Amino acid sequence: MTAQPFTATVTGSPRIGPRRELKRAIEGFWAGRTSRSELESVAAALRRDTWSDLAGAGLDSVPVNTFSYYDQMLDTAVLLGALPARVAHLSDELDRYFAAARGTDEVAPLEMTKWFDTNYHYLVPEIGPGTQFTLHPGKVLAELKEALAQGIPARPVLIGPLTFLLLSKPVDGAGAPIERLDEVVPLYSELLSLLAGAGAAWVQLDEPVLVTDMHAGAAALAERVYTTLGSLTDRPGIHVATYFGDPGAALPALARTPVEAIGVDLVAGGGAPVAAIPELAGKLVVAGIVDGRNVWRTDVEAALSRLATLLGSVGNLAVSTSCSTLHVPYSLALETSGALDDNLRSWLAFGAEKVREVVVLARALREGRDAVADEIAASNAAVASRRSDPRLHNEQIRARIDTLMASGTKRGNAAERRESQNARLHLPPLPTTTIGSFPQTPAIRKARAALRNGEIDREEYERRMKTEIAEVIALQERLGLDVLVHGEPERNDMVQYFAEQLDGFFATDNGWVQSYGTRCVRPPILYGDVSRPHPMTVEWITYAQSLTGKPVKGMLTGPVTILAWSFVRDDQPLADTAYQIALAIRDETVDLERAGIAIIQVDEPALRELLPLRRAEQDAYLQWAVGAFRLATSGVSDSTQIQTHLCYSEFGEVIGAIAELDADVTLIEAARSHMEVLDDLNQAGFSNSVGPGVYDIHSPRVPSTDEIANSLRAALRAVPAERLWVNPDCGLKTRTVDEVTASLRNMVAAAAQVRADI
Ligand code: GLN
Ligand code: ZN
Repeated sequence: MTAQPFTATVTGSPRIGPRRELKRAIEGFWAGRTSRSELESVAAALRRDTWSDLAGAGLDSVPVNTFSYYDQMLDTAVLLGALPARVAHLSDELDRYFAAARGTDEVAPLEMTKWFDTNYHYLVPEIGPGTQFTLHPGKVLAELKEALAQGIPARPVLIGPLTFLLLSKPVDGAGAPIERLDEVVPLYSELLSLLAGAGAAWVQLDEPVLVTDMHAGAAALAERVYTTLGSLTDRPGIHVATYFGDPGAALPALARTPVEAIGVDLVAGGGAPVAAIPELAGKLVVAGIVDGRNVWRTDVEAALSRLATLLGSVGNLAVSTSCSTLHVPYSLALETSGALDDNLRSWLAFGAEKVREVVVLARALREGRDAVADEIAASNAAVASRRSDPRLHNEQIRARIDTLMASGTKRGNAAERRESQNARLHLPPLPTTTIGSFPQTPAIRKARAALRNGEIDREEYERRMKTEIAEVIALQERLGLDVLVHGEPERNDMVQYFAEQLDGFFATDNGWVQSYGTRCVRPPILYGDVSRPHPMTVEWITYAQSLTGKPVKGMLTGPVTILAWSFVRDDQPLADTAYQIALAIRDETVDLERAGIAIIQVDEPALRELLPLRRAEQDAYLQWAVGAFRLATSGVSDSTQIQTHLCYSEFGEVIGAIAELDADVTLIEAARSHMEVLDDLNQAGFSNSVGPGVYDIHSPRVPSTDEIANSLRAALRAVPAERLWVNPDCGLKTRTVDEVTASLRNMVAAAAQVRADI
């Protein structure tokens, strides 16, 4: 086989639709409003438009099979016959697929977790003793055929066998899924020959797992697998794509195999030592130089000089994105409201603009710089404008941070803090509280939409929100909770709410990005120095506090979480940006304290999420992440209680950092990990108060009083009563008022029951 080298491509592209057409079609299908054939035609139209946009822009190799009705890992499980047995009774393929993705009344869905260090979530395939791998290539063959019929230079994309197995989880006592590698590789061989027969010149196998430390032998396994696949005679050209970091030892390992092309992420991976690997002289290196997961315009001049240094050491060079543009919005052209000023717009590139950047760079390599002189001039102008924009550098903020960091951000002794807080708060043992949000009722959603459409003014909107707050306070008083919250009705999203009020952030109109399945988020763009022009929460919280004699918590999002769920500037270290956000949050805590608020919760659910993929980089991250939290929370007096909330993850790797946060109270998701987290915290030397979530809010199920009381008794084996709090495991905004009322009633009763025994 001799695959013609390509010169310009992307690793993958978004699929939800520029106007979230696929989301609407799928949700309509689930609700029975959209027929199957309507759904299929929306999907086919999106694929067709995506491919023609990519090819039309000038890519000479176009990824296909990156479309998905839900998730690419789930698609791979289907491809390899590895759906769980519990959905096998469903005879229809699509029903089976969605049952595995979302569950039904009878069957639980697959677990969902973060795709590497991105904010995309994949479904975790389950590999058990009953799993019998068999090939089901219908989807990829059909999409290839569609694309070829459209005249597209199609390159089917598949998740590679190592990434698939290493991200899967063993069930029913099975060993690690990777032990089944030798059963899976023959299916990939068979698939490659089918794809060749169907007319694919190239195939892309994604192996992002090679940039992590998940498996010590991964590089050697990659060499073995790709030697096997590369030795087939009847196959397309093989492109192994690594992304999200430096492939390290896997790069020379792949270079020693017969595969024709290897992709490297030159953005997250830094300078891959391409010149040091002689075997790359015989390969097509697919250079991921255009950032596929952040929104900044490429500096064409700088990119060209990096590419030029690679040219001499590789056989052929193709220009690409660093990873799939699944992680950025579709196009800047959709930002039409006028909120985006010309300067800021000139610094940005979303999915469509990134494709054009790839094409420009490839053209410059082929025809010389002069062929793209206009594009270079425009890029240089954008670079200069960004560098000189006053919004990017606020001396006063930087000086304040330096001073505060120099004087130290440690609070007083933790035990003494507890004493002075107890004296102020007069709480019973095992105090009950919640994580912050209460149900987002139809009335709240209606008020938000009415404000957006101009049907009501800000004053009327605020009046309606205050009505909601009053109801939530009254409900909590009726239920007998000890520490109340205002319920967060005024917040569309826990990050966006703050981003909209802070300087240095821009909130897009249509910058939607798939988070999982049909769920999309609109991360704000953090482009400049962050500062807080005015208090952000004080009015709402003091209003809530005015309605009750019980303490109401101030409720803030922490610096690491704001950072993790935004597109972040790339012109300074993340740590510097984190400290700036921390300073703004600190100013807010000081204002809340001054307004008489005695407890302030600073949420950090994303603490684990930003943890670097390579162990060698993790300590440095944890150090600044903890530093930022402490900067944010050390401005208040020792008698003001700082709480934090953590969720969405296995905390094992960051447990030491959780202790280091030194929050007075840590409310932590634990309902699903059965209190193991308490033992882990003890081992890490944690000695502050803790509220392990006593029930799972992700399920509509109402936990019984006995069940909660039992889990409290279990917690008391690990934590003394004077340090134990009682709370659900996360915010309540996705639940109904009835579910929340019933669950919290049982939670308060369980706390009373256990209090009586101690
Ligand atoms: N305070 C937020 C809420 O209750 C926390 C959300 C979260 O943990 N993601 O909704
Ligand atoms: Zn949570």
